This record gives sequence, C-alpha cells and structure tokens, in this order.
Amino acid sequence: MILSYDVVVIGAGHAGCEAATAAARLGSRTLLITIDMEKIASMSCNPAVGGVAKGQIVREIDALGGMMGRVADRSAIQFRMLNRSKGAAMWSPRAQCDKHKFSREWRHIVENTKNLYLWQDSVVDILFDLSGEKPRVKGVKTRMGVEIECGRVVLTAGTFLEGMMHCGEASAEGGRAGDQAAHGVTTSLLKLGFESGRMKTGTPVRLDARTINFDALEVQEGDAEPSKFSYDADTEAVSNQLPCFMVYTSKRVHDILRTGFDRSPLFNGTIHGIGPRYCPSIEDKLRTFADKDQHQLFLEPEGRDTNEYYLNGFSSSLPFEVQMEALRNIVGFEDVHVYRPGYAIEYDYFPPTQLKHTLETKLVDGLYFAGQVNGTTGYEEAAAQGLMAGINAHRSLCGEEEVVLGRDEAYIGVLIDDLVTKGVDEPYRMFTSRAEYRILLRQDNADQRLTPLGHKIGLVSEEKYENLLKKNTAVESLISMLRATSVKIGEIDSYLISVGEEPLTQGKKLYDIVLRSNVTIFDLSRVHKKLAKYITENNLDKEVIEQAEIQIKYRGYIERERYYAEKMHRLENIAIPENFDFNAMQSLTIEARQKLSRIRPTTLGQASRIPGVSPADINVLLVKFGR
Ligand SMILES: Cc1cc2nc3c(=O)[nH]c(=O)nc-3n(C[C@H](O)[C@H](O)[C@H](O)COP(=O)(O)OP(=O)(O)OC[C@H]3O[C@@H](n4cnc5c(N)ncnc54)[C@H](O)[C@@H]3O)c2cc1C
Repeated sequence: MILSYDVVVIGAGHAGCEAATAAARLGSRTLLITIDMEKIASMSCNPAVGGVAKGQIVREIDALGGMMGRVADRSAIQFRMLNRSKGAAMWSPRAQCDKHKFSREWRHIVENTKNLYLWQDSVVDILFDLSGEKPRVKGVKTRMGVEIECGRVVLTAGTFLEGMMHCGEASAEGGRAGDQAAHGVTTSLLKLGFESGRMKTGTPVRLDARTINFDALEVQEGDAEPSKFSYDADTEAVSNQLPCFMVYTSKRVHDILRTGFDRSPLFNGTIHGIGPRYCPSIEDKLRTFADKDQHQLFLEPEGRDTNEYYLNGFSSSLPFEVQMEALRNIVGFEDVHVYRPGYAIEYDYFPPTQLKHTLETKLVDGLYFAGQVNGTTGYEEAAAQGLMAGINAHRSLCGEEEVVLGRDEAYIGVLIDDLVTKGVDEPYRMFTSRAEYRILLRQDNADQRLTPLGHKIGLVSEEKYENLLKKNTAVESLISMLRATSVKIGEIDSYLISVGEEPLTQGKKLYDIVLRSNVTIFDLSRVHKKLAKYITENNLDKEVIEQAEIQIKYRGYIERERYYAEKMHRLENIAIPENFDFNAMQSLTIEARQKLSRIRPTTLGQASRIPGVSPADINVLLVKFGR
C-alpha cells in the first residue's frame, strides 16, 4: 500500500464531510474518498436544512464544533423559526438553502481543512486484519485498484450501496439520479458476518420556474427578523430572502395519480425496501388518507441563480407520464415544464444494533458507520452521526476516551441511543417526541449544553468558547437585575392590559412580571425605562434577552426534567460487564434474555430502553448489578 492515512472516510455526503473535517481538525491525517468530487454534500432531495427536531440537531452540531450550521447559514435563501407560537422546547429553526452554494461551501471547507485530503474514486472493498482475536480494519481498496492503509475507517455511503432507482416500470442502477451505485462494500461486510437490509426513499419532480404561473400561488415568506443556526460570530443571518409558495392537489389530480397505481413500483411488488413513514410519497398519501380530496404542497426554490424549483410533498415513483399529467392539473402548473422526474431509490443499510454508542461496529475494531447506512433518513441525522464518528475515530486512535452524548444532553444522544439500542424497522428520522427531556434539549441552549465539551476535545475555538462564557454571564446578570428591580402599582398597567394581563394590585419585581405568559422582556423594556437603559448600556442582544426569558418562564419545568434525568443517570451509571451471559439468568424472561444477548447493553439504563425488556427484568438486573 503506497498511501497511508490515520482515518479514511468513505463518502463525501453530509455524514462523511462532518466525519472527515472533525477527524482532520482534531489532528488525524484523514482521506475523504468519494465517487464524484463535484457533488460534495449534495442535497439529494429537499434543498433545506433543519425543521422540527432537525433544527435542534443542527444547532447541536454547531455547538460541538461541526460545520453544517455554518454552511447552512452561508447558503440560506430563507429562514423560519418553526413552532414559534408553541413552547420554547418546540421552536425549530429551518433554512431553505441554495443547494449549489451549500455544496460549494462544503467543498471549500473540505479543501481548506488542514490534515484533510480528497480522493475521487469508489471504495469496493474494506480490508481487515484477521490475525487477532477480533477483526481489525486495516485499509480500503478502490475501484481503480488502489489500496490505502489506515487505522480507522468511517463508512458513510448514504443511499449508494447497491442502489437501484425506480420510476414507473423503469428501473436503473444508481446511488441517486445522475450518480453510479457503489458495489462491493456490502459483500465485503457480509463476509465478515454483518447483517444488511434494504430501505427505500423517494424524491419529487423539479420544475422550471419560467413555466409556473406564480400569480396563482399562495406566497410563504421567511421570518421578518431571520435568525441563524451557527453560534459563530463570523456567520450572519440571511438577507434578501426568497419566498416559497403553497399549492394544492385536488380530487382530479388524485384521480389521475390513481390511474398509475397498477404500474407503481411501490404497489406492484418491485420495491421491497421499507420507506420513510414521515416522508411518504404522494401515492402513499392517497392510499393512507383515501378520503382526503386535497393535499398541501410547498414549492421551494433550489437556489438564487437557478430556475429550478422543488415540489415538496409530491415525492413519487409513478410512471413519468402520470406524474406529468397530474402536475398539469394543479392550479399554477397548467403549462409546467419538468426538469427532473420524481423517482424512488432502494439501497442497502446495516441494522444499527450492530454498533456501539461510539458508532464503532461491535464486530470489527476501528470500523465506524454513520448516516443513511445506519437506517436513518435526513441530512441532519446523517451529519450528526458523521460528526460523532469522526470525533471518536480520531480519539480512539489517540487512545483517548471516546465521546458518547447522553439522552438528556443532546438530540444527537437520543438519535444514537435509539439506533444502537432499539434498531430501526423503517428509515429513522428525528422528532421532538423521541426525546424524553425535550425541555432540556432546546435549540436556544445547544451552546450551553455542548460547547464546553466541544472546546474540551479541541473542536471549538477559544473565541467561540469565550463568547459562550460572556453570554452566560450576561444572561445571569440580566436575571439578577430583573429579580432586584421593582415595578410600582400603575407603572405599567396600560401595557399589561394591552397584552391581556391583569394590572398590578401591589408592587412587584420585574422577574415576577416576566413569569406571566403574555409578557416578554423585550415588550417590558419599551415601557420600563430602567430595564431599557440596562439593556442598552450592557449592549444585550436578542439571544441573551430570549435566553433569560426562557430560563425564567420555564424554570419549574427545567428543574423537574433535570430531576428525572438525574434519576435516570443512576441506572446509566450501573455498568454491565462486556461478556455477561444473559442466557444464564433464568429469572429473566426468555424474550429479555434473547434481546439482551443480541443488543448487549453496556449499562442498566440502556437495557431499560430495549423493547421487550420489562421493568421486572430490569429489577432482576438491578439486584444482580445494582449493589
Ligand atoms: C432519491 C432520494 C430521495 C431522498 N428523499 C429524502 C427525504 O424525503 N427526506 C430525507 O430526509 N432524506 C431524503 N433523502 C436522503 C438524504 O439524501 C440522506 O438522508 C442524506 O443525504 C444522507 O447523508 P449521507 O451522508 O448518509 O449520505 P449521502 O448524502 O447519500 O452521501 C453519500 C456519499 O458517499 C459517496 N459514496 C457512496 N459509496 C461510496 C463508495 N463506495 N466509495 C466512495 N464514495 C462513496 C457518494 O458519492 C456520496 O457522496 C433522499 C435521498 C435520495 C437519493
């Protein structure tokens, strides 16, 4: 082998780019091998980043020192904070991105990261050292016959492994439209005893703006005061936002789509892989909600310098002529030209219960999996896993303790724990409902939760860490000021009445007034001179004010969740020995013995989350290990 690196990352998608930049920035000589260098971090589907629970993940990636938030901010064309009208735990940032700029920004980062090298080729084989007790990764072999030696491999091959695309009765090999599939890697892993499965996903048509009648469509603007993902001071919120649009299907459109059902690869048995429940195709929606005569669709620009639009909600693998006829019956699309048809893709994934929490495989030392190959769907879920795999590949190589995030620390912790503990039976996407501590895991406090860790391991710059400390101090000082400052009867009555709150019957501290649900610190500052002066003199920005307000309003809920999280920690701290023989414990149910032997939890906390392991089984294990 003439080429030798510390870490090889297979695939420059969303997981691979995060993995490679993290490992390289931490100091590992890293090679990022990808099939096509022109398509780095390509947005295979929706040109958007974030959304419900996914936006929280992007903030966490940024807080830990990953790149997705910066790239999204730099390529954003519209920004919205979803769920603003709900509680702070539900606020979810989402940006429509210029997909070409997104990809260019990533390539710029990859090409300019110290210790990181790019190689365009397809990996066809992973090489193992089988001389020890347990297989250990030792390199990769590419389609051009090049063998590359390395200490760690991170596999992030996305939808490419044995990829097969479908549109109506036509099927073709491919990793996504316009890209070749990747062969060899699955076989190489199956030989060692890995299990694989098939999943599927789909994408909608892309439309030519010149042929759309925008006057007939409902406009959806971005936020009037857009925010951003990254906590870095050198990124900015988007300006000159572009609008999105809403369109609707109709009974006529549905009738046309139904004429293609007998030729749908989804319904006629051609596609075997399981699709994403929460990103269904339009044909799936017609079957599941048969009584609905209308579905809302979103028309989203793919960039600033292109006429291409993405039709969100119209994912389909029906025959192209059926997609086309249905489209032309949607108001505004009467003369529409289609750039690319919708299609579905089937690909190999590896059930993630074969992984440790570090994302290293249990079967092979030094081999990590991240992204869609683990049965997830979505750029954000992929990027988060890539970041953790890159960090851990580097740290294990240096003999440093690997990083595992808890379920009460980050959505990333929930994601990985769900994957390795529960496995997947359909493409996994993140939701706020998957997190039991979602009041702790808010988008606004990702920096407080994760930046100190990112700084400690060397991914977060001194400047970013200092900014966090300054922000924390400013928030604490503002809260103290609100606690110490009184409001007299009658002083702010007209404001309180205007927001639907009762006037004061006695003097109160500002802090107690902020506790009222319709009061905001920002509004209060307009009617309370001392507060306004404090904010101006201390140059407090929106983030500090918002943070103080959330901490005041949600204090009770936050403390309660912390209490439950602490209780759970007690179980997390009880370790189960690596080779413990669960089958020998007759007092466990047979189902529990089977599941525990398969997943091999490392703590009692993890064991308690395995489906099929009951509280009674946990009590048995508590008696055994709890002492
Ligand atoms: C048709 C389609 C529809 C989709 N629809 C949705 C959707 O509705 N919702 C959603 O959330 N997500 C959807 N996705 C999935 C989304 O694209 C992925 O979740 C995300 O891109 C996964 O990131 P990743 O880094 O794991 O893989 P990818 O972004 O797929 O990147 C994989 C990279 O690895 C490279 N590669 C693969 N094999 C090799 C090899 N052997 N050697 C070298 N390089 C290799 C590829 O060239 C590519 O650059 C869709 C994807 C496709 C293709």
